[in-house]
Amino acid sequence: MSVRVVARIRPLLKLELDKDVIVTSDSIGKETPGSPTIVRIPNPKNEAESYSFQFNSVYDQNATQQEIFDHEVAPTVKHLFNGFDVTLFAYGVTGTGKTHTMRGGKSLQERGVIPRLLSSIYRRCRKIEKDSAGATGVEVAMSYYEIYNDRVYDLFEAPEKRTPAGLPIRDNNGKTVVVGLTERPCTTLKEFEKLYDEANVNRSTSATKLNAHSSRSHAILCVKITQTTETQTRISYASAIDLAGSEDNRRTDNNKERLVESSAINKSLFVLAQCVEAISKKQSRIPYRESKMTRILSLGQNNGLTVMILNLAPVRSYHQDTLSSLNFANRTR
Ligand code: ADP
Ligand code: MG
Repeated sequence: MSVRVVARIRPLLKLELDKDVIVTSDSIGKETPGSPTIVRIPNPKNEAESYSFQFNSVYDQNATQQEIFDHEVAPTVKHLFNGFDVTLFAYGVTGTGKTHTMRGGKSLQERGVIPRLLSSIYRRCRKIEKDSAGATGVEVAMSYYEIYNDRVYDLFEAPEKRTPAGLPIRDNNGKTVVVGLTERPCTTLKEFEKLYDEANVNRSTSATKLNAHSSRSHAILCVKITQTTETQTRISYASAIDLAGSEDNRRTDNNKERLVESSAINKSLFVLAQCVEAISKKQSRIPYRESKMTRILSLGQNNGLTVMILNLAPVRSYHQDTLSSLNFANRTR
């Protein structure tokens, strides 16, 4: 069981008005060469002083989608096929690059970690089938849902067809399952992409209806891999989570609906931080049952590997939120 917490600082955007870059990456001491592991940010109250935060790795504005995948995600695929679960999180304020990191853009170069992960999974499936001369069969299936105000909604279901109360969850032989969640087989990358795009349309539709709700929900993609031989069946899960925006909604808007949303987000992110901390400190008790999301993910069980990518904007307009994000990540170590 292990966890990596890494930071990714996005570049300045073309249309961004604020050009004042205050967040930088650094290696420990200039004299020790190596890849950066430190994020530096000024103290908002005294800019002569700066804070530094340490991570397993820090990616700056020049890091490509390919690099993030190659360094952080590709190494986990082997574990997945050995029967262990892999869970990837993107954490950060709205506008810092969570969706860019996870889903990415349309072009091959801009594809995020999710399509790259699937591509890698399918390549390995073909190899296993070939190497075993068909004796091992591998099946891939996906489900995709969001958790909004602590309720689970199937993203394969059109928003107007959803029951407002969401799908129930239940314990089944020690595993928590979402009752009635659609699971779609997908045998090729093409098939996966078609289903993924279809479900993402449902996510953005509800975003316009529910007042940019997509930044207030956790989107959870779950890929189930079943390997079958004559004597055994081995199941593992790769999950990729585009988390709700971590900004403090109370500062901008305090209507009742926002408060309900904020407290649901805060609670689930708080439990997530506790779980990541427990895993990283190798504690025996991981409080994954204390929030719906970590419970459904069985976070830290099954010898799983977890990677948390902390997305950061480099500019001053995010100063306080960036500091909060860094403090959040610091608690998990
Ligand atoms: P979030 O999902 O955290 O709200 P997005 O992924 O939507 O943030 O990113 C906000 C904007 O910044 C988008 O226009 C996105 O394309 C751009 N962006 C984010 N990260 C990068 C990056 N590493 N390189 C180029 N553009 C980026
Ligand atoms: Mg997003």
